[in-house]
Amino acid sequence: MSEKKVNLLGFSLQSLEDFFAKIGEPRFRAKQLIKWVHQKGILDFEEMSDFNKHLRSRLKSLAILLPPKIEEIHTSPEGTIKYLVKLESGSMVEMVRIPEKKRMTLCISSQAGCALQCTFCATGAQGFEKNLTADEIIGQLWLANFSSNQPLITNVVFMGMGEPLLNFIPVIESAKIMKEQLAYGLSRKRITISTSGITPQIDQLFNEVDVSLAISLHAPTNELRDEIVPINKKYPISILMKSCNRYLDFYEGKRSITIEYVLIDGVNDSEELAKKLAKLLSNISCKINLIPFNPFDGSNYKRSNNKNIEVFKKVLMNKGFITTLRVTRGDAVDGACGQLVGKLAKSVKGKKLIVNIRFLVGFKSLSS
Ligand code: SAH
Ligand code: SF4
Repeated sequence: MSEKKVNLLGFSLQSLEDFFAKIGEPRFRAKQLIKWVHQKGILDFEEMSDFNKHLRSRLKSLAILLPPKIEEIHTSPEGTIKYLVKLESGSMVEMVRIPEKKRMTLCISSQAGCALQCTFCATGAQGFEKNLTADEIIGQLWLANFSSNQPLITNVVFMGMGEPLLNFIPVIESAKIMKEQLAYGLSRKRITISTSGITPQIDQLFNEVDVSLAISLHAPTNELRDEIVPINKKYPISILMKSCNRYLDFYEGKRSITIEYVLIDGVNDSEELAKKLAKLLSNISCKINLIPFNPFDGSNYKRSNNKNIEVFKKVLMNKGFITTLRVTRGDAVDGACGQLVGKLAKSVKGKKLIVNIRFLVGFKSLSS
């Protein structure tokens, strides 16, 4: 039965070496396999011509190489492509391909749904469904590179559905495959893990893999952040800033962190809050990415108006922060994470949104 076989798609080079050692094969087989799969896009052991017949049939009896499936593709006029990806469990996640001048960025999901319920996030509104396995995470990059005629991905951001640091081991394993020279060979600058601030895992991250870090801050005071990013009650801002400093210290001042700040009309976009944000970040080496709130059905929030956005940005720039404003892309394909799954759910059932989202993504108590 195929479900008893191990899925080698999500194995890093080290894990593959352990796998081959366990079955009595030389370690260099791991290098051969990882190249076939992640450089050439080959999933059929029979096509791996430097494996002898005996090894090919052994591998077939022990293992599979199985990516998730692309269920739907939505293309926006400006070139952003949003994919709805179906996992083996039936859960749906999203990934988005974002073409830029010199980059082709892939935004990937680490969980189906999310338990953290940030008030401005469509994924949070769906609740938690499941952690993705390493093969389901790296499988998204594999699909983006090998199952379409699109250009190869140059950058990966963990900014799709879910909180990557609450699915730590599979996220690390897949980031290692992304970095591996014999696989995708992406440098640490080209891989960004975005987190709402899970401090124990931020403290572990640099011990496991060297990648770029983005912090979804969204508010400079605990009072406000408790409200819009509820995990702040567990890991408040002062603790989060200490973790950021430990990350920066580990790299001896040679790094900076990206601070993400979604601008929501009348909630967190005042000039006063911009000044507080500048003060809070004065000792942190960072650049700030302002993201106008992307509205979705069922949310009462509105995107900040352009004047407030400009004032907010100016305050930060005047204090010397490199501050970018994310161009809202992919609106036509429901750009922000979690919105496509929600939309499909709605059109399928057309009843109460949250129930239908959970139905579609395979929420167990409803689907069984
Ligand atoms: N859970 C992680 C990564 C996924 S969310 C995190 O929170 O960082 C990726 C980014 O999208 C976060 O910065 C998040 O705040 C932002 N985001 C979520 N919903 C959004 C919306 N409706 N409009 C704009 N940005 C949003
Ligand atoms: Fe989860 Fe991130 Fe959405 Fe918050 S913003 S609910 S942490 S996916």
